[in-house]
Amino acid sequence: MLENVNLKRKLSADEFNLILPALQLRLYDLEKVCWDLKFRSIFVFEGWDAAGKGSAIAKTIDGTCLACHMQLPPMLFQKLMRGDAFEQCPSCARILYYEAPADEHQGGTS
Ligand SMILES: [Zn+2]
Repeated sequence: MLENVNLKRKLSADEFNLILPALQLRLYDLEKVCWDLKFRSIFVFEGWDAAGKGSAIAKTIDGTCLACHMQLPPMLFQKLMRGDAFEQCPSCARILYYEAPADEHQGGTS
């Protein structure tokens, strides 16, 4: 999906400030729909430059935060495995999500 992003597009500060309120309202509407449908969601925005260098989100597959490599408390890891909620790493404060180890995927694409 990111390969389809036109990186040459630019926005002046004036244009940004002009369209920002409407975009914030659209985002609010989307969050409200998710909330009303009890659809768990999280919106994270990162600049293209941050991709791969550091992230607000981190994955765990084995109870270790793959960003800071700290062992997560077992209760936290179990909560993430159940998918009950998004949680923060107690060490680096990144938002954590669980992904099953590759050998547990059935016919995955990656
Ligand atoms: Zn961490």
